[in-house]
Amino acid sequence: MLSIIIPSYNEEGNVANTAQVVTGIMEENSIDFEIVFVNDGSKDKTWEKLSELSQKDKRIVSVNFSRNFGKEAAVFAGLKVCSGDCAVIMDCDLQHPPQTIVEMYNIWKNNDVDVVEGIKSDRGKESKLYGGFSKLFYKLIKKASGLDMSGASDFKLLDRTVVDALNEMPERLTFFRALSSWVGYKTEKVYFEVAERFDGQSKWSLKSLIKYAINSITSFTSAPLQIVTGCGMVLFVVAVILGIQTIWNYFSGNALEGFTTVIMLLLITSSIIMFSLGIIGYYLSKIYEEIKQRPRFIIRDVINKNDRKEK
Ligand code: UDP
Ligand code: MG
Repeated sequence: MLSIIIPSYNEEGNVANTAQVVTGIMEENSIDFEIVFVNDGSKDKTWEKLSELSQKDKRIVSVNFSRNFGKEAAVFAGLKVCSGDCAVIMDCDLQHPPQTIVEMYNIWKNNDVDVVEGIKSDRGKESKLYGGFSKLFYKLIKKASGLDMSGASDFKLLDRTVVDALNEMPERLTFFRALSSWVGYKTEKVYFEVAERFDGQSKWSLKSLIKYAINSITSFTSAPLQIVTGCGMVLFVVAVILGIQTIWNYFSGNALEGFTTVIMLLLITSSIIMFSLGIIGYYLSKIYEEIKQRPRFIIRDVINKNDRKEK
């Protein structure tokens, strides 16, 4: 059986249509499936719509969060609840073409692969600014962790073994896109074109995107901490040069000059120190958050949960 996990946040205009489209395509290709909608604390009627759908169709599983925990949490909740032999994660707005699911499924079925990744062949319609920032973000990730993730998306198929591996991960602050390649396994790629959003607007505000980017980078790599070391080294070289110059001036009898240098040095060092403290503080807060061992999400209700049948 194939589980299709769909995180949904304020998607009242999308869920019914998405369910219908996906169901249609799965039936057409006679794939045994379940759809796991995870309502990420929507403020609109998404949950009402979902429970209605679940009532009508037993194959539609609906999970309700107690509040908005973010897309990452919703994905992981879906992985916890789903009972298929493989699971596909897709967006609720049909930007991930459902036809591609069939393609992924066939690759999974006919080959010995554990992960089928959806790669964006183009990025769809997005603003220049957004595109620029996401490029920068992926460059940083690549520099920091060596994973090339440009074009990566959350749209992928995972085999049960991978789902179980991800479910076992104890960490709370996660970056799904990277984690699913971090666990390794045999990976195959499928290219898809990002379609336009079916209904409503993107659920990411600039603030939530920046938060997501910082969170992703810091939860995945400690490379930013190396920036601190780097700055320290550069500053040390400057200090040595300036030190020699100062001593030279002292012995040659013109020592009173150099207030500019003092001011510049003060400005540079203090800003670098503050920046470094900020980075260290950020990691410290991560450790703090992980150590609290709070659950990643809280589930309020589940409708139609299937029990997992071992094949
Ligand atoms: N989403 C979510 N929780 C959030 C924000 C978004 O579950 O806090 C879901 C949303 O419902 C959608 C998917 O994540 O199914 C992608 O969101 P969106 O389409 O707004 O992002 P974009 O396509 O603009 O990257
Ligand atoms: Mg979208």
